[in-house]
Amino acid sequence: MTAPLRTRVAIVGAGPAGLLLSHLLHRDGIDSIVIDSRSRDEIESTIRAGILEQGTVELLTESGASDRVLVDGHRHDGIELRFEGEGHRIDFAELVGRAVWLYPQHEVLKDLVARRLGDRGDLRFGWTATEVLDAESDSPRVVGTDAAGEPFEIVADFVVGADGSRSVTRTAVTGSMTGGYFREYPFAWFGILCEAPPSAPELIYSASDEGFALISQRSATVQRMYLQCDPELDPASMSDAEIWDQLQRRVRGTELIEGPIFQRDVLRFRSFVAHELHRGNVFLMGDAAHTVPPTGAKGMNLAVADVVLLHAALREHAASGSRTLIDSYASTASDRIWRAQHFSWWMTSMLHAAPDATEFDRRRRLGELESVVRSRAGSTYLAEAYTGWPLAGWPQA
Ligand SMILES: Cc1cc2nc3c(=O)[nH]c(=O)nc-3n(C[C@H](O)[C@H](O)[C@H](O)COP(=O)(O)OP(=O)(O)OC[C@H]3O[C@@H](n4cnc5c(N)ncnc54)[C@H](O)[C@@H]3O)c2cc1C
Repeated sequence: MTAPLRTRVAIVGAGPAGLLLSHLLHRDGIDSIVIDSRSRDEIESTIRAGILEQGTVELLTESGASDRVLVDGHRHDGIELRFEGEGHRIDFAELVGRAVWLYPQHEVLKDLVARRLGDRGDLRFGWTATEVLDAESDSPRVVGTDAAGEPFEIVADFVVGADGSRSVTRTAVTGSMTGGYFREYPFAWFGILCEAPPSAPELIYSASDEGFALISQRSATVQRMYLQCDPELDPASMSDAEIWDQLQRRVRGTELIEGPIFQRDVLRFRSFVAHELHRGNVFLMGDAAHTVPPTGAKGMNLAVADVVLLHAALREHAASGSRTLIDSYASTASDRIWRAQHFSWWMTSMLHAAPDATEFDRRRRLGELESVVRSRAGSTYLAEAYTGWPLAGWPQA
């Protein structure tokens, strides 16, 4: 093995959380090494999240991470909730004076990778962490295998696990890869990408007797749509015609613009929060710390909120040696995490029928949807949570 590498902050995972933290630390003169087991190309081409909260957009632009989000992204001032064949607009701008932006996660990643490389950041693609060691010492370590298959060791003041839902860093913090609060749902989303213009100006969240559908977007020429399905569904088992038929039935009243389907996947629904987010000098953030079902569009935004808190803590430590924000990171982050968990669970359970749902359950869900669209208080809660609570500590003095 070559000599150990030394850095202030070793970050495992070049997803939105790891790259953004590295960028913000660099602005404060704090060096970091970011490793990721995947190639740059793979990271920049995987289609995942698409909705950015207003605070996320402000952070990306004001920190110099992305200008493109305001040029190539699309501001959405509301969403449509559809049930019983009727659409109801939740007007974010009018209710809470905020908005969200449609800007795909892989575009955020392209911006962050370009920014870090432009700033001569140390990013290592194809490097896989196998273990994080000595969490409670002053020199925690990351060990693993580099892009050439050779073993490596990184010694740091702090190690951050931004390594996604199958985090190996979690073991160093919680004692096991699965140590957390967990819930699985009895349904999933069958997602497609198709070549077509948008079918509607804003996203449509539709609860129908056939099941849930989300009519989402990616760009002027590519659309993302989801159908509620059985978690075991084989994505190849439905023909294109069956998919379009199911989608059209679930959003009656809106004529979908069809086009060639070029990607299909089944996305399982899980809620997870790690039992601990911090041990000694090792931290968890983003999907390594928590997973939410995608209905509330919270995953990537919650990762960004963790970054803001951890950046402030590491910055304070670098400036004064204080561990105050380090020691409060887990409890401060947990407050938002559990609010986002609740919102994601609430949107999911309100919009999806469970396979064992009774007629009582169906009517109760309709009552709940009516309560949201007919009550300003109900609509305002949805708008406030969907567009995102303010990011504590940003912009920074
Ligand atoms: C289909 C889909 C749709 C979604 N839609 C939305 C949405 O609309 N809005 C929203 O906010 N969120 C959405 N999400 C969730 C969002 O994509 C995630 O919450 C977000 O990617 C979390 O970012 P992260 O940086 O924490 O983790 P990730 O993006 O998962 O990044 C983790 C990185 O760590 C790397 N890694 C893992 N293990 C190792 C290791 N051992 N060594 C080195 N590197 C490692 C991985 O290769 C990966 O690049 C969606 C997710 C999916 C799958």
